[in-house]
Amino acid sequence: MSKTLFEKIADREIPADIVHEDDVCLAFHDINPQAPVHLLVVPRKPIPRVGEASAEDQQALGHLLLVAGRLAREQGFAATDQGFRVVINHGQHGGESVPHLHVHVLAGRQLDWPPG
Ligand code: AMP
Repeated sequence: MSKTLFEKIADREIPADIVHEDDVCLAFHDINPQAPVHLLVVPRKPIPRVGEASAEDQQALGHLLLVAGRLAREQGFAATDQGFRVVINHGQHGGESVPHLHVHVLAGRQLDWPPG
């Protein structure tokens, strides 16, 4: 099967500004940032989207959120008078464009609710 875009980034076949890497995931800056800080946290395993994850992915899914929180904390956005948003898009109505599960971490500006 051909590699996903994010597998190619993990394998250094496509360049990205990688800010974190471990056995389970990597995180890098989004190429088209929607906030002053916009990171993607991506499992190495190419789970297509969150609604297709299975019980065997439970640990990886939890890990993605812990890394997202840690990165936001490290970058100074965890104080409640700052804050950040974690987003996972699934499918067309969800706004998904890359079919490899990823967690968006958005920070550095007031984010609207409801989202567009
Ligand atoms: P989604 O629309 O939720 O599937 O998110 C996919 C994200 O991947 C978008 O925010 C894109 O800007 C981002 N993206 C696409 N190609 C790259 C790339 N080569 N490097 C970093 N981010 C990318």
